[in-house]
Amino acid sequence: MKINRHFLELKDSYLFATVGAKYAAYTKAHPERKVIKLSIGDVTRPLAPVVIEAMHRAVDDLSRVETFRGYGPDQTCYAYDALLDSILGSYARKGVTLEKGELFISDGAKSDLGNLLDIFSTENTVLVPDPVYPVYVDTNIMAGRRILYADANEKNGFLPPPPKEKADLIYICSPNNPTGAAYDRAGLKAWVDYARRENAVILYDAAYEYFIDDKALPRSIYEIEGAKECAIEVCSYSKTAGFTGVRCGYTVVPEALVREGTSLNRLWARRQSTKFNGVSYVSQMGAAAVFSEEGERQIRENLAYYRENALRIAACLDGAGVPYTGGKNSPYLWMKCPGNTDSWTFFDRLLEEANVVGTPGSGFGKNGEGYFRLTAFGTAENTREACDRLAKFFAQYDRK
Ligand SMILES: *Cc1c(COP(=O)(O)O)cnc(C)c1O
Repeated sequence: MKINRHFLELKDSYLFATVGAKYAAYTKAHPERKVIKLSIGDVTRPLAPVVIEAMHRAVDDLSRVETFRGYGPDQTCYAYDALLDSILGSYARKGVTLEKGELFISDGAKSDLGNLLDIFSTENTVLVPDPVYPVYVDTNIMAGRRILYADANEKNGFLPPPPKEKADLIYICSPNNPTGAAYDRAGLKAWVDYARRENAVILYDAAYEYFIDDKALPRSIYEIEGAKECAIEVCSYSKTAGFTGVRCGYTVVPEALVREGTSLNRLWARRQSTKFNGVSYVSQMGAAAVFSEEGERQIRENLAYYRENALRIAACLDGAGVPYTGGKNSPYLWMKCPGNTDSWTFFDRLLEEANVVGTPGSGFGKNGEGYFRLTAFGTAENTREACDRLAKFFAQYDRK
């Protein structure tokens, strides 16, 4: 037998392991010092009360023979109507009309971002931004696809425009992890135009769309004309509603998305009904409460909490004259390391001199070198204290 040798081409991901090891070594050597993590890439606020109530009710349903549920309905790839209807409602409020059959429920965006590749040939060329969420790259290395990079840098505000080369599959994440940058309508339209011209398909990662406050920014790629003919949108309740542990997301494969005379919606439905058996009833009922009127009000409270942290860090960087993207419309701030310091040297200095931890940008791709990611997912108290320390740290930075 033969293994899939493409797995041997994967680079080990040292980023978060090294950050964790350096943090552990420092706190062990200096147990009296409180180190604050502005590196948290996971939500920390508890679920909204309406979600908890809906999940409790769902558990009770499972306890009685009259209301018990087994596998979900197969005509919708195991999705319950209440959840599908609530998602259609959320799209309608963004001005996007979708049919139920265009929606697929998942156990999160990460799974679908990887699994969607099943319906595309390994002969396709893939275009990913650099810096990048590592999932886009590694899933394609595993399948042996050729990968091109779109340079995201200071010059283009970390929002790369379409390239001159031809690509077949394009990943876009907006608002972006790690850079926090978000495309406006014109920026996204350029990609939609490119994809239609090249007969390419965009995989649009909208995991952070609920962090967008600016009404001028699109929250769904389908707000751009023509996108239904060239884009799949992958969404998640993880960051929106604190579902990183609960697990639920949704993916839109429009009916209008046809390649080689074949409906990608049909291909994806066939793939899912073969390799997937749905998301738990309890998770689906919890998710269905998120986009209710009361649910949206409650999740916005949590999002506002993170937003305040982000704005506090942004104000601190503004005060220190440190350039950055994100912080608005995103829980991430992507700052330039002062004095052309490289990402890991900056990490070490920040840990040792300010007792604050962040994530070195070089871990997200070559264009991340010299940059550093800070996140808004901590507590307000810790974020405030970290900002006080950052202000002092930056004021003394050049003197060392
Ligand atoms: C967190 C995150 C996701 C969400 O993944 P889930 O599997 O839904 O938890 C997707 N894309 C990006 C870029 C993320 O940062």
